[in-house]
Amino acid sequence: MRPCPDREELLLARASGTLDARDGAALEAHLASCEGCRGELAALQATLAAVRLPPPGAREQMLVEALPARVLAATGARGGTGLGWRVGVGAALAAAAAFALWLAAPRLASIEAVEPVAGSSESTADDDDAAALEEWAAADPLADELDEFEE
Ligand SMILES: [Zn+2]
Repeated sequence: MRPCPDREELLLARASGTLDARDGAALEAHLASCEGCRGELAALQATLAAVRLPPPGAREQMLVEALPARVLAATGARGGTGLGWRVGVGAALAAAAAFALWLAAPRLASIEAVEPVAGSSESTADDDDAAALEEWAAADPLADELDEFEE
């Protein structure tokens, strides 16, 4: 006998232990009168039991409990106010931006050395940097490498 198609999701939730009390009570009432769904539930429970991980040991438990503190320590954040997470994410983004600039820096330096910007004596260093960055962004960053590769 096949299970009712509209109950399959509930049966899976019940078998995995994630069904809430209200849906659970409704499903119990249905199971009392539906052999197909009872059979499907038994099959799902057997399948999940076969693939269930063993309960965590003392070492796993300790590692899981220590994880939030380790993450906060690694990101340099203090406390668990929620602000700490944002500071951590901000620091990570800042590090990524710094890394991107570090990657771009040698190329920016070579552009300035080969092609000095006209009238650069009147412009500020920020203008030079912005112009060089725009030039770099518009160029194909791999063009030189590809030319070398094809020769
Ligand atoms: Zn059913």
